[in-house]
Amino acid sequence: MTNQSGKKHSHWWQHKSWDEIVEHAKKCDIAIIPLGSIEQHGYHLPTGHDTLQLFPMLEEIAERTGAMLLPCPWYGAHPHHHHNFPGTVPLSNDTCRAMIKDIVRGVSLAGYNKFILFFGHGQAFVTNYTVQELGQEGYYVLSVMFQNSVRDVHHDIFEDPFWHADEAETSIALHLFPEYVDMSRAVKELATPLLDRQFVTGPTQEKSCKPLRFDEGTVSAPEYKDLKAGVVGDPTKATAEKGEKYVKVIVDRMVDLVNHIKEKYPAGVKIETN
Ligand SMILES: [Zn+2]
Repeated sequence: MTNQSGKKHSHWWQHKSWDEIVEHAKKCDIAIIPLGSIEQHGYHLPTGHDTLQLFPMLEEIAERTGAMLLPCPWYGAHPHHHHNFPGTVPLSNDTCRAMIKDIVRGVSLAGYNKFILFFGHGQAFVTNYTVQELGQEGYYVLSVMFQNSVRDVHHDIFEDPFWHADEAETSIALHLFPEYVDMSRAVKELATPLLDRQFVTGPTQEKSCKPLRFDEGTVSAPEYKDLKAGVVGDPTKATAEKGEKYVKVIVDRMVDLVNHIKEKYPAGVKIETN
């Protein structure tokens, strides 16, 4: 779609002029910050998997809500056990935290009052910390790791829980960017937990009363020593159909969240956080 001048319609900040950005905030002042990561995803998936998956999801969310999409950093923070694997490029936790804060401070100057961090890569241990600090500064910021929003349907769609480069992640890729997937190189592999799984809740496990979540301790062995292909799970079970079903629920639930904020706090309303 183009406007009268021939300029292509886009929901992304980086495609708009500054005055278009300011005008947009008068209608919808919710801005979504996609958080990416560059991480090995086995032999069969690209290192940009966790970033690439965000773009089509967010474009549909913006189309249905009017939220502003902010430029996406391709790098992100990583838990300790991801480090040192070739192909993975972690930001230090402090760098990631500082980057998020700088983005929120800069974008708010254009009239955006509500922020949602959106990601599917396990970096909530940094975002949860950061949103509390931003709240103290007066910014309204939510941290959404999309797996949390679909735990109730995960096992209706997939045989296995969500881990890494597995049935779920590969299904998302087959649905959203099959051109970067090579299923002939997909292999099943399992990680070595440092604690028995009876004590650790996985990313998509529902109704768990275990003492720890997967990101609440050094519960996994260093992957560069532990894994050969770089997979935790069984990607051979993946299909594009499973990916499509999963993505649809993620998008629908994000649309509900954005619309709820829009109704509760109309454009121009700044929410008191400090
Ligand atoms: Zn991933």
